[in-house]
Amino acid sequence: MTTPLHDILVRRIRAEGPMPVAEYMGLCLGHPEHGYYVTRDPLGRGGDFTTAPEISQMFGEMIGLWLAQAWIDRGSPGAFTLAEFGPGRGTLMADALRAAARVPGFVEAAELWLVETSPALRRKQWEALGAHEPRWADAVDDLPEEGPLLVVANEFFDALPIRQFVVSDGALCERMVGLRGEALVLGLSPPVSGAALPEGAEEGAVYETSPQSRTIAGALGARLSAQGGVVLAIDYGHAEPRASGDTLQAVRGHAYADPLDAPGEADLTAHVDFLALAKAAEREGATVWGVRGQGPLLDWLGIRLRAAMLEKAQPDRAEEIRAALARLTEPDAMGTLFKALALSGDDIPPPGFAEDLGA
Ligand code: SAH
Repeated sequence: MTTPLHDILVRRIRAEGPMPVAEYMGLCLGHPEHGYYVTRDPLGRGGDFTTAPEISQMFGEMIGLWLAQAWIDRGSPGAFTLAEFGPGRGTLMADALRAAARVPGFVEAAELWLVETSPALRRKQWEALGAHEPRWADAVDDLPEEGPLLVVANEFFDALPIRQFVVSDGALCERMVGLRGEALVLGLSPPVSGAALPEGAEEGAVYETSPQSRTIAGALGARLSAQGGVVLAIDYGHAEPRASGDTLQAVRGHAYADPLDAPGEADLTAHVDFLALAKAAEREGATVWGVRGQGPLLDWLGIRLRAAMLEKAQPDRAEEIRAALARLTEPDAMGTLFKALALSGDDIPPPGFAEDLGA
């Protein structure tokens, strides 16, 4: 489908040659005029996809309890930075702050920062969170350097560009977006010079890396070790060293689409490589507490009890609440594919990460 961004990409590729998948993904999502996140609020029923906080208030509430407990465990500091990366509509943080307001002192001590590049979503976040006087930042570097940092990111890292490398004729080549006539097509770069083939690499295997994700995880790790605090990153992806696989995915109108079709009009994401994030943060001095399944972590935080309370208060919504609970926690829904990674700047285990939750 021809979109305004499609025409811009065609002109650029014609002038400059094929571009790496990462550059394509970055432009599709973040082009200053036609980028997917720049031009719209993609969440919810009328949008292209739904996320955990949009499924049920219970998700943000459990995250709020997690944050409040992590704050208490660090001696309830009188002032700290509470930052969310990629806050979408602000739903998660609104639910989290409402739940955490039961913990005396937490909300008062928090200075709220939202790391968000999309002007359209910044407006939505203001509507949801204006009462908390949030400030906005473009990147880690803009966050305050004083005081502990408590960070949450849900479905943020999966939206950051990935590079893809393909084994072709025994050499590693980068996957590029090029042209056939007016159509965008995938192709390969010449062999990347100096790149060693991964062990056991088979012809056609695809390897992915997300340099931007690693940079952000590293910067957060450095901040944690300098300022103290915790990071909870929840996303879909893998936590085992994985040989290979093409995980670039396009979603439009709640259905899978071709990533090259309708650039700027579809959401593009890729599986998050949690080990790569953990390594980048650890290298900068943060403590890595590993990865837990979203289902087991929400269970540990008491989501079942919360669902029962909500059902009792609103019996006419019981079915909806039960369905949301299942969707967020069941292994065949979001319970296993979605995972949480916790980091800290100290040796105090973040809530739910001291023990093995069995997933
Ligand atoms: N956390 C929300 C939204 C997830 S969608 C939820 O769970 O519902 C991804 C979010 O990340 C959007 O808010 C998007 O605008 C933001 N985002 C994407 N790339 C970004 C970047 N490079 N810097 C900051 N925010 C970004």
